[in-house]
Amino acid sequence: MAVDSLFDEGESKRLIAKYSSIPKELALRVYSSRLIGRDTSLVLHGGGNTSVKLKTKSIVGEEQEILYVKGSGVDLSAIEPEGFVGLDLASLRKLRILESISDEEMENQLRIHKVRASSPDPSVEALLHVFLPHRYVDHTHADSILILTNQNNGKKLVQEALGSKIAVLPYIMSGLPLAKGIIEEHERFPEAEAIVLLNHGIFTFAEDAKTSYERMIHYVSKAESYIAERIKGKPLITRRTDITVPSNLASLAARFVQVVRGVCAHRSSDGRLRRFYMEIRSDPDIVEASLSREAQDACNSGALTPDHVIRTKNKVVYIESVPEDDKDLRELVTQRVDSFKNDYHQYFHSQTKAKGIDREELDPYPRVFLVAGVGAVTLGFTRKAAEIAADIAVHTLRAKLQAGALGKYQPISDTHAFDMEYWSLQQKKLGRGSLPPLEGEVAVVTGGGGAIGFGIADRLIAAGAVVAISDIDEGRLEKVHSILAERYGRTRVESIVFDVTDYQSVEKSFEELSRRLGGIDILVPNAGIAHVAKIEDLDPVKFDQVISVNLKGTFNTIKASIPIFRRQGTGGSIVVISSKNVFDPGASFGAYSASKAGAHQISKIAALELAELGVRVNMINPDAIFGDEKVSSKLWDLVGPKRMKARGLDPEGLREYYRQRNLLKARVLAEHVGNVVVFFASDQTPTTGATLPVDGGIPTAFPR
Ligand SMILES: [Zn+2]
Repeated sequence: MAVDSLFDEGESKRLIAKYSSIPKELALRVYSSRLIGRDTSLVLHGGGNTSVKLKTKSIVGEEQEILYVKGSGVDLSAIEPEGFVGLDLASLRKLRILESISDEEMENQLRIHKVRASSPDPSVEALLHVFLPHRYVDHTHADSILILTNQNNGKKLVQEALGSKIAVLPYIMSGLPLAKGIIEEHERFPEAEAIVLLNHGIFTFAEDAKTSYERMIHYVSKAESYIAERIKGKPLITRRTDITVPSNLASLAARFVQVVRGVCAHRSSDGRLRRFYMEIRSDPDIVEASLSREAQDACNSGALTPDHVIRTKNKVVYIESVPEDDKDLRELVTQRVDSFKNDYHQYFHSQTKAKGIDREELDPYPRVFLVAGVGAVTLGFTRKAAEIAADIAVHTLRAKLQAGALGKYQPISDTHAFDMEYWSLQQKKLGRGSLPPLEGEVAVVTGGGGAIGFGIADRLIAAGAVVAISDIDEGRLEKVHSILAERYGRTRVESIVFDVTDYQSVEKSFEELSRRLGGIDILVPNAGIAHVAKIEDLDPVKFDQVISVNLKGTFNTIKASIPIFRRQGTGGSIVVISSKNVFDPGASFGAYSASKAGAHQISKIAALELAELGVRVNMINPDAIFGDEKVSSKLWDLVGPKRMKARGLDPEGLREYYRQRNLLKARVLAEHVGNVVVFFASDQTPTTGATLPVDGGIPTAFPR
């Protein structure tokens, strides 16, 4: 609830002091924009926009009026001064005389009138901020305002709820038409403190930052109170009695996302297989809603505001029960997705035909499912996109239920939704360009707390994958996780503690990872331990332990991944981190060499058996990888001291000894192993069952 103003004079002064190099008015703009951005009942992820107008001197000393408006797609919650784009007001104001403007010319005008050539593109609603005369303008898509506007009698409800000092406009397409509509309305009713645009959102304005922000809060809270009063005592939902909630919901949800992910994976026009990341939201009220009589209607009705459509599409797929049997599940999901796709094609073709225009159709796949008992399940080409879709889906469902209790939810028409979805300026927010080779893929790397695991995860993430690292050592795992999250961002890495020697633990963890990410495409069994002893002295218990981690662990992780590969049906890659010792064993290294040879062999069997699923299995034989000061090698922490003692060397001397031992005199690094994992996983050659050494060249260990 956006009930209270959070504007704090002390805070705002601190921010002005912090940004002492920029004008005070802009610092205040940053401050109150963040207040708006942090309130999810006002805006979600880059939605909404704000601006301030300033007078400055140009480089040649001429007086100049500049509009600082939010950059397109910038998230208000953490906006920095650089997130605002400075535009030359005098030039842009002249555009008001135009009857219309093409998208290309609009974009061009906004670009050529930037004060700083390197700034991002301004908000798609920039022109409206240009035309309004007020120093500060705030715009949001507040849930409560949309609950009121998205009704048959929306205008009347808004006026009743918000009082006489506001203006209400019918829906107008963003860009020049909306900007002109807003300024005309302001001129007709200059005392208005806010303008509500039906099916879109609300604009407030004032001469100072605080008043403009507080007007926003004032009117949004008024809308909230009005709704609360009107729906008090009314149930938002009625529970369906014909749906029973299964008891094994957690594993059901995991199976569901794996299947959906597989069914929705598709080839894009360039032939590339596009996979989605998935997000599940099981807040209690969302789960309750998923089991209600209102669920189906809520899924069939359109978005709250057309701005959401590029993130969520306009409709939601409702699944009233998830079959226990995998085959039935796949049939059901395929049928629902096909029907969604057909509707989408039809919507696209009828809209382009009616408008007499030519557009390239976006992919027709759904972005949001509502699953009885599970909640909202969303898809995105990036994890961020899946999260955005999930946040919007949850807010939308709550708003629709309130709207239903208030009257009847009335979404925007398809024609308006289409205009926004296919507006070139809006589509830019999706960001298209060359894709990194593994974008869309989920990789699991066991032994993620060690040097090689770290090197592999690092290279996989750099190649575009989202990586889940696992280890039994929580401390080491957390350390690697934080380095990777710092380097690549929170959404690119997950971590999970499990024991590879325990099949149940592996299976449960893969389920958990599926719920977090959608499934698995790349598996890298890498966890390993070593023990140094001659057979004569080798403790059978130690032997068992090494076999358990290195051989059984590889078997367990491969086995647990197979049902997931099968449900997804989109192939995949298993890259087993084997060892130079498989071909070239060493004395006193019996347990390690034997366990690695066993793991190598089971991997070849996996290559034979999984080819029919399109899953390739390859092995990497590294040697003498020490790690660095950030992440050490567990193996070398263990065997290094003995080796050094035996050879009379210090740590640097030991590294040098191994370097001199190989043909290329190369120091072999964890990232070299990571590069090979990326090569195998990126499907560049039809190779399976192969072994690639990463050892600088050791003739006795050449694969044979
Ligand atoms: Zn808007």
